Amino acid sequence: MKKIFLLTFISFIAVFAVAQDTTTHKKDGYILHFASNDRNFDPALKKRMIETFFKVYPVLAKDFNPKTAKELYFNIDTAYKGVAATGGGKIVYNPQWFIKNPGDIDVVTHEVMHVVQNYGRGGGPGWLTEGIADYVRYKYGVDNAGAKWSLPSLKPEHSYKNSYRITARFLNWLEEHQSKGIVVKLDEAMRNHTYKNEMWAEITGKSLDELWQIYISKTD
Ligand SMILES: [Zn+2]
Repeated sequence: MKKIFLLTFISFIAVFAVAQDTTTHKKDGYILHFASNDRNFDPALKKRMIETFFKVYPVLAKDFNPKTAKELYFNIDTAYKGVAATGGGKIVYNPQWFIKNPGDIDVVTHEVMHVVQNYGRGGGPGWLTEGIADYVRYKYGVDNAGAKWSLPSLKPEHSYKNSYRITARFLNWLEEHQSKGIVVKLDEAMRNHTYKNEMWAEITGKSLDELWQIYISKTD
């Protein structure tokens, strides 16, 4: 009985410790709740993540989805082993990632774009969701150079379905050489669940596979 009480007491303290570093930040109509269960989380990194949010998110909202959530949650969680994940306005970050990859602040840019995207289930292909998020990181990121993050050179084994940076590079080429504004159109269709394969041809006059063939024949 006493033992159970002691354990309960310890869990209570642990929960309290987990919850104690939660702060709320407001600017320009946006609210960010920042929570961390990592006692060693660098306060300078926290400050930079918050600054990056308020710099990038309102611009992404304006450019892609003005109806996006106004209130977001950042959760630094030592138990989370991925890089970061987003669901319903809540983003969980692995603090270890930032220790191993110092300067990778634009993980924030990529993740908040997922909130803006808000495709739900069945919006479109996953490779395009991640490709758009990395394209946005490339275009709107605050310090990709500081993270030594860039779009990779094209390789013969690449496909648009490779997702992330490989798809981002293709999207950037499409914007520059085929159809300016295509990313906004694709993003909107995915959010409205009206995306279909024929869209690429409706926008550019060429199918997705034709576009990729032109892309790989013209870039290296
Ligand atoms: Zn992602």
